[in-house]
Parts: sequence; structure tokens; C-alpha cells
Amino acid sequence: TISVATILAEAAHRYPDKTAVIWAGQTGPQSRATYRELWDDARRIAGVLRARGVQRGDRVAMLVPNVPDFPRVYYAVLAIGAVAVPIHLLFKKDEIAHVLRDSGAKLVIIGAPSLGEALPAAMEAGVDAVSVLLPEAAKDLAPIPRLEALMAEAEPIVRQEAMNPLEPATLLYTSGTTGTPKGAIGSHFSLVEQVHVSLIDLFDMGHDDVVFGGLPLFHTFGQTCVLNTAFRKGATVVMLPKFDPVGALTAMAEHGATVFTAVPTMYVGLLAGARAGAPKPKLRYAVSGGAPLPLAVLEDFSETFGATVYEGYGLTETSPVVSFNPIGQPIRPGTIGVPIWGVDVLIADADVDDRIVELPRGELGELVVRGHDLFKGYLGKPEATAAAVVDGWFRTGDLATMGEDDYLTIVDRKKDMILRNGYNVYPTEVEGVIMRHPAVQAAAVFGTPHAKHGQEIEAAVVLKEGQQTTEDELREFVKAKIAAYKFPRVVHLVDELPLGPSGKVLKRELTRVWSEDPV
Ligand code: ATP
Repeated sequence: TISVATILAEAAHRYPDKTAVIWAGQTGPQSRATYRELWDDARRIAGVLRARGVQRGDRVAMLVPNVPDFPRVYYAVLAIGAVAVPIHLLFKKDEIAHVLRDSGAKLVIIGAPSLGEALPAAMEAGVDAVSVLLPEAAKDLAPIPRLEALMAEAEPIVRQEAMNPLEPATLLYTSGTTGTPKGAIGSHFSLVEQVHVSLIDLFDMGHDDVVFGGLPLFHTFGQTCVLNTAFRKGATVVMLPKFDPVGALTAMAEHGATVFTAVPTMYVGLLAGARAGAPKPKLRYAVSGGAPLPLAVLEDFSETFGATVYEGYGLTETSPVVSFNPIGQPIRPGTIGVPIWGVDVLIADADVDDRIVELPRGELGELVVRGHDLFKGYLGKPEATAAAVVDGWFRTGDLATMGEDDYLTIVDRKKDMILRNGYNVYPTEVEGVIMRHPAVQAAAVFGTPHAKHGQEIEAAVVLKEGQQTTEDELREFVKAKIAAYKFPRVVHLVDELPLGPSGKVLKRELTRVWSEDPV
């Protein structure tokens, strides 16, 4: 049947003794599981959910880090036809309570590290709660049952529910890089189609691959491109509960990772880890998406690790992949590749909101998407859904161009574009230039309000360990390389960039912090 749970059920049937997941750096029975063990546990957890009154269509929230319990719980929820609502692990109490209320969650499963924020949120929202990863000895820490204890008494379900493929499977709150989180509803069809029709071919992933799952699994990128795709092929997923570059490199080298799938900030991290002497895994290839990958990082990574980086593009609302540089074909650096099978895209006039006006090839406009992978709308927000999906096309909010050969280039997010003295400045382009400076590890360009110019162009820059340069020198470096209206007037050297839960730079946070600083 078309259900996301079928991905694990089939893997358990085809590759029962194959290692499905490894929790890097851990030992003991919880640290790894075969496909059969994982599915047995998921069926037992499904029994626990049923016993607590969860029915088909009910929402089950989860705050579980990247450890084998994530897939155990995720597929259990999906197997009984309930809707999985993985919550960002960095959310604080009020944000968690908002998601619990907004989703109408029936139950929340809370990993021990999240208890401090999530337990009061669950109590406030009046939602039944169960803990995971809480050792028996620590059970007095939380006045809620432990999943492990409930599992011992539960009656496992025999098989997954047969779903109508258009029924909801996941409710994913968009990461909020640019605003208030909204719950995007993904159907079994859109999620299974992504994996079946597109990704298993596109990612060239096989039974023998070992995939490093550094991406947070509460995010669509990790769920679809790491977990579901690897499980569909019976590959092994190596997990780290909290991404850190040296830990990631060590885990990949130790467990023989062949595929690395990540957002650009993680690439920057691995390069820093390699410079610091961490072991280098022998990768077959790597996949980047979620944010623009600076060319300097792409080149440096390919050279350092001897693996090609294939860049793709996607969003929570598109399950997520829209386009990709096909693996095995020469990459086109700076592009996000071509649309994947069954997904239509066009470039529309970004200034016309209520209808889709297609622009001629090569012109810059808003990328809009149509196809099997589209979400079913934002829960309880018909106006937001109607504004996002116009005539069946989803407006991505990203400005892009499409070449004659269908290759797409993202220029920037509409919302991140800086308007200074009437000139459009695209931060991604300016960041690419800053990243060419040999001392620079990471850079983010953003706009701040300015009385005279409308907005000012500012940059926050992190230097590589042991490297030195000045804010003035960096500004002059960029000024010499691009048009005068684009270079950052203000450069701030900082220790780190503010990152959202999925590893993306929070531009609005930078704008907020530096707006208070008189320019
Ligand atoms: P919010 O929905 O609140 O804005 P978010 O944008 O981080 O949060 P996601 O669905 O995680 O939500 O990310 C989708 C966005 O990520 C895209 O709209 C695009 O701006 C950006 N993105 C994804 N892949 C790429 C890429 N390869 N190059 C440039 N930008 C990318």
C-alpha cells in the first residue's frame, strides 16, 4: 500500500538482517538496529499509541533527536495512519506549546534532552505526553510514562494501515527562517512519490551505501532525502544526535560513510574539522541543499574530500526536492540543477500576486512549482495557503532564472533582497565574493533599515581558526570585485552566525541585532 510506513515494512521484509541505523559514538543494544528489529519496535510502539487512544488521522508530536528512536517512533505513528509532527529541537516552551495547540496534537513523545522545555509546554497545552531516551534510573525526573516501559506491555500491530495516499502523513512546521512557523501538510502520496519516482534514481543510492544523516530528522530534508531514501534502498544510516564537525567526520570514517547529505553550513563545518586534523571519510559523493552553497565551499570540499558535491533545491512545501544536479553527470556549479521527474517549474513575474504570469526564458522572476510533491496546504490557514498556491502553482518566494537547457539558478529569496538607493542587491552573490577571501570561513549578508538609503548592506563574517584580517580589509576586498552599489558598507567580524534549527543562517536575527547598532 502507499504509506510512508511501507518503506520500513518492505525494508524489513527484503533486508531483515541489514543494519538500518547506527547511533555513532554509542555502544549497547540501543546504538544500532537491523531493519527487522527497527520494524518490530515500530510495530510495538504503534501498539502503545493505539493503547493511548491515538487513532488514524490524529496528530502525534515528537521531539526526538537523530538517534534510532526517531525512525522507531516516526514509522510507528505513520503505520497506524496517524500524522507525525516532528518539532524543531531548539524550540522553546512557548513555541512547542504553539505547535501542540496549532496541530491539535493528541500525544507528544519527548526525548529526554527536550523534557525541560517540552514537558511544561505539554502540560500547558493539555496534551498527553510520553518520554523516550529516559533511563529507568532517571524516571523520577518526569511525571510521565517512559516509552520503553509502555512497550514492554504493548501488543504490537501486525501490519501498517492501508492508507488513502492523499491522507496526511506529516505536519511539518516550516523552520521559521523568515517568519512565524506554519504547519505544512504532507501526504503519503507526495512523500512516497518523492522517494520512489525521483530520489532513488537521482541519488544513486544502493544497498551497500552508508549514509551520514547529519541533517536534523525533524526537517523535511533529513526525513525524505536521508531516512526515507536510504531505507527504501536498504542502506545504512549513521546518526549523530547533535551535529559537530569533528564528531561527524570521526563517525563517517569509523562507519565507512559513502554519502554525505547536508546543508552548506555543515560543509563549512567539515572543512574546518578537516583542517583541524579530524579523519577524512572516503565518500562516493555528497548532496547539498537547503541554502545556497558558495562556490568556494563546493570547490574546497571536492578537493579536500575527493567527492563531487551535487546541489539541489527544495522546500518543506515540496516534500522537499524540486530540482537537482543529476548524479553521474557533470555538475553545473552555481545552479540547482534541473527539475526532478514529474515536477513542473516556471519563472513567474514576482510582482503579480494573484495570478501566474510566466516570464520569457532567462529572465529573473519567482520560481513556481507544480507536481506530485506539493503539500496539501497549511493547517488551519486557508488564506496563507491561497496566497502560496495560485492556479495550482506553489510560489516559492525564491528569485531564480531558467536557462535554455532547463538548468535553474537561485538568485536569492525575495524577502532577503536588499534595496539600497533603489538598487536590488542579492546577498547570495555578495556572500559568494566574501567567501573567496582565504581567511573567511562563513559569511552572511543582510540589510538593515537606513534613513537615507532605504536599506544598508551589512555583512557578518566568521574567520577560519588562526586567520586574521580586518573589517576594512574585507570590505575593500569585496569592493574591488563587484559593482559599487553591491559591496557591504559595514562588515562585522563575529565568532559565529546565528543558525536556525536546520542549520540555516537566520538573516532576520542578524538584521535585528545590527539594526540596534547605530550605523
Ligand atoms: P521559512 O519557510 O520560514 O522561510 P525556510 O525557508 O528555512 O523557513 P525550508 O522549507 O526549510 O524553510 O527551506 C526552503 C528554502 O530554502 C527555499 O525557499 C530557499 O530559499 C532555500 N533553499 C533551499 N535549497 C536551496 C539552494 N540549493 N540554494 C539556495 N536556496 C535554497
